[in-house]
Amino acid sequence: MASIESQTLARTRDDARLHDEQDPLAFVRARFRLPAGVHYVDGNSLGALPRTVGERLAHTVEHEWGARLVRSWNESWIDLPQAVAEKLSPLLGAPADAIAVTDSVSVNLFKVLAAAHALVPGRATILAEAGEFPTDLYVAEGLGRLLGPALTVRTVAPEALDEAIDDDVAIVLASHVHYATCRKRDMAATSRIAHAHGAVTVFDLSHSAGVVAIDLLGDGVDFAIGCGYKYLNGGPGAPAYLYVAPRWHGRARSPIQGWLGHAAAFDFAPGYQPAPGARAFHCGTWPILSMTALDAALDVFEGVDMGAVERKSRALCSLLLMRLQPLCERHGLRVVGPAALDARGSHVAVRHPEGYAVVRALIDRGIIGDFRPPDLMRFGLVPLYLRYVDVWDVAEALAEVLDQRLWDDPRYRQRQQVT
Ligand SMILES: *Cc1c(COP(=O)(O)O)cnc(C)c1O
Repeated sequence: MASIESQTLARTRDDARLHDEQDPLAFVRARFRLPAGVHYVDGNSLGALPRTVGERLAHTVEHEWGARLVRSWNESWIDLPQAVAEKLSPLLGAPADAIAVTDSVSVNLFKVLAAAHALVPGRATILAEAGEFPTDLYVAEGLGRLLGPALTVRTVAPEALDEAIDDDVAIVLASHVHYATCRKRDMAATSRIAHAHGAVTVFDLSHSAGVVAIDLLGDGVDFAIGCGYKYLNGGPGAPAYLYVAPRWHGRARSPIQGWLGHAAAFDFAPGYQPAPGARAFHCGTWPILSMTALDAALDVFEGVDMGAVERKSRALCSLLLMRLQPLCERHGLRVVGPAALDARGSHVAVRHPEGYAVVRALIDRGIIGDFRPPDLMRFGLVPLYLRYVDVWDVAEALAEVLDQRLWDDPRYRQRQQVT
């Protein structure tokens, strides 16, 4: 690899330290509250806590809820989802009025799939990749059950997705970055092919927004959905978001006609009139405490160039991949996903038959990653708060756990409810 990234590889821990000294994003780490003695490499599952969140939540609870009570709807809350959409706008490359911050990824996916399907009459196929994140396929198949033969889901191998798009396809559904393999899809290319066949695209940004530079408008994406609690650091159960391309505004209809998606919610008028833009995809009352946490959390991106974030993400991934190489040889670890750094997102996933026990042993040693069945260990490398030395230390700890078989302990094989 003769990429710029490979020139920044550290050969020793001192090299890694040097990279940290020269890191243009080093200042962002101080915006997070990271526990001492922990290397947190699970930001792809639950983002770390930004410093501003606690104080802001305390204010919302004590002052807005406690003291101002219902007056806070007008004073502080009613425009909060729109304020969050404005902060997301530069991260997604989308106008704020094309973004709605609300509900969960699963519910938003249901809404945009139903809306998208109605825009391509006479077509009955959602084309998706096999091995997609479970909820995405469950939701698509559930909508298929609801609509009967009018909509079915067809899955194909990930690398065959673009070629499988034909004139029967209504919707192409795919993750931008895949949760397991970390493969990054070219959203512009897939959207171009889909449009040439009269289909529309729905992309899931859950594993890309916040670590990868995104240009939804420029890429011609029709609809997108994504998660608030992963790389956006909004906290457990943070509201998700959805994107409706401006060309569909006024035409794309949410199947859940809730009052907060109404053009004039507080008129209490009979009959549903959709609000303009993506606002029509709101449905019921938002979880204001979680929305507040997400709003405060997004301030960590202030003054942060997403191009620099993506470059550092590649450099961190490159460093970990290089450090994993000898372990692959010694212990049969297998790195999944593309080798080219520009075809990857920001986590590294490796297969090992005892992956679950290895992850548990690492967690006991302060290295917090996660596990996905059947045998996948995932390490999320978040450029906002991880240093090169952290990545170095993660690889060292993994080597120790494998070399000394520290994972070989019945305690570590006991599966917990959440992996
Ligand atoms: C995290 C994630 C989700 C989460 O869905 P929720 O409904 O918000 O729990 C969905 N899809 C993908 C691809 C994810 O990574």
